[in-house]
Amino acid sequence: MNELREDGFLKERLDMVEYQLRRRGIRDPRVLAAMARVPRHLFVPPQLRGEACADYPLPIGAGQTISQPYIVARMTEALELNGTEKVLEIGTGSGYQTAILAELAREVCTVERIPELSEEAGERLSSLGYTNVRFLVGDGTLGVPEEAPFDRIIATASLPRIPNALLAQLADYGIIVAPIGGRGFQRLLKLRKSGDGFEEIELGECRFVPIIGKEGW
Ligand code: SAM
Repeated sequence: MNELREDGFLKERLDMVEYQLRRRGIRDPRVLAAMARVPRHLFVPPQLRGEACADYPLPIGAGQTISQPYIVARMTEALELNGTEKVLEIGTGSGYQTAILAELAREVCTVERIPELSEEAGERLSSLGYTNVRFLVGDGTLGVPEEAPFDRIIATASLPRIPNALLAQLADYGIIVAPIGGRGFQRLLKLRKSGDGFEEIELGECRFVPIIGKEGW
């Protein structure tokens, strides 16, 4: 999906990109362009379409949320994608973050715990023309060993710590971005695998719904 389409919500998206993302320090032009392109209003329930580009998360059903645009942009920018990567996403949700990743990476494998959300996201992305995404249902804290190694891993719900399975499935010089901490609030962490160790960068505080799973809550 390359074009910037007038679909009744383009002005909202362009304002979102300017006021919520660019002016708050998101710099990667590919991330800004992807967020201007992907029709965010199609990822929220119909009655919330008018609020789709607002500066907060929204409910998507099954007790889950689509993340605030700024958080999606911040996490995506931290992944440093150039279009060649294989990415693992944990927590498909509405598929919005998945679509942004699909725009910017070579291939995306996304895991969701709730089958209905995974199915709806799969239908949404295929109707939008994305062909580089594999949708899986299961516990993403275990990763997807048969698809490893991954150049990038992103968790879109909070974890008490980074699971060893994910560290093991990360390629050399790969990056993991995840909210780590307590159930109430977390720190957004970026980990880069370098040789035998990991370089850790803290990106600030955040609030995510918890990951439910063997290595989650
Ligand atoms: N990125 C999503 C979007 O753009 O709509 C929002 C994700 S939502 C904040 C977090 C998601 O993680 C929920 O859909 C939840 O069901 C899912 N989740 C929770 N625990 C999980 C697990 N162990 N494995 C996979 N997904 C999980």
